[in-house]
Amino acid sequence: MTCPACGSADLVELADLGTIPVFCGVHWASRAEALASPLGRMVLGYCPSCAYVRNLAFDPTALVYDTTMDTNLHHSPAFQAFSADLVKHLVDRYPLAGATVLDIGCGQGEFLRELCHVAGCRGYGYDAMYAGPTGPDGSGAIFHSGHPLLDDTTPRFDFVTSRHWFEHLDDPYGFLVRLRELAADRPVYGYLEVPDACYDLATAGWEVIYPHVSYFDAYSLCRVVERAGWRVEATGALFAGMFRFIEISVNAAGPPKTTRRPTEADRDRQLAAIGGFAGRHHAERDRWRQTVARLAGEGAQPVLWGAGSRGVQFLHLADPDGLLAAVVDVNARKWGRFLPVTGHEVAPPERVAELGSSAVVITNPAYRTEIAAALETMGVAAELLVA
Ligand SMILES: [Zn+2]
Repeated sequence: MTCPACGSADLVELADLGTIPVFCGVHWASRAEALASPLGRMVLGYCPSCAYVRNLAFDPTALVYDTTMDTNLHHSPAFQAFSADLVKHLVDRYPLAGATVLDIGCGQGEFLRELCHVAGCRGYGYDAMYAGPTGPDGSGAIFHSGHPLLDDTTPRFDFVTSRHWFEHLDDPYGFLVRLRELAADRPVYGYLEVPDACYDLATAGWEVIYPHVSYFDAYSLCRVVERAGWRVEATGALFAGMFRFIEISVNAAGPPKTTRRPTEADRDRQLAAIGGFAGRHHAERDRWRQTVARLAGEGAQPVLWGAGSRGVQFLHLADPDGLLAAVVDVNARKWGRFLPVTGHEVAPPERVAELGSSAVVITNPAYRTEIAAALETMGVAAELLVA
């Protein structure tokens, strides 16, 4: 397969992760349904020219998005605060007052509503996972349950945002090309946000999950944006280095917001991380399997805090035998429900106190402060382990 990001080299296999849960953002009413949920193949390949990474075995027909999926990050106060700051940042930088915004992959619409409210713009939100009322709401946003066709039925837009969706696309280059064509000769700006592959591929890779087809670092993200005909306004890391953003434009007046660009040295660092990924991933899998078994054996009543996609991947790889005493999450929609493939049941955070756990495992370092504070409030003196 030719690299979809730079179009100038063939992808080379780098790691075979075997089979992993396909629906890592879904939770089920019964354990039997959860245990029966499908597995998909994950075989990572990389581009030697731009460091783009992709699941070579991705089957787009295996993964259909609908309203039963819940990949919402807005239940966390840390994410809410981050998202509110982002709205202010975009409003300060771009001519959004009175503008029309497309938000592709809008989730439950929290970000678009706030952007419309603060900027005084009009927004069209699209997401197959959007489960709220469709049509206009009081904020100036209009919601669609489904994805835009990106044809002449798409509203004329001045700004396009897409947060944590671009990496799910089978054809990310084609998506950007289509948006560029729709912008025609109008000045259009955009904001994309993805998980930062610099983090994912330099760590255990708990966020290397089936719905994530592509893994972009700064260099490959700039390559795909520019190859599709957009200008890079700025790029950088966010949220404790776990996310990457890129601001883009076409037909914009004046110079780009910043001339700081990822260099070949950045790309080479990412290629080095990619080179070590397979060994690191398998070693971390084994190490956490042993750690969970040891903590359970010592009577520590170990708990996993966080039943998002990253947590689901951790459970599948590190606790297939269900040795953890519980899995807890702050999202009440998940309580009493069961996670894919392993069938772990999700409990409210209070379960940690009821169990008297002395070890709490988290897979996302960005939530360490928030979870430590919650444990303290509950009077739980547990060791916090970051996987
Ligand atoms: Zn490439």
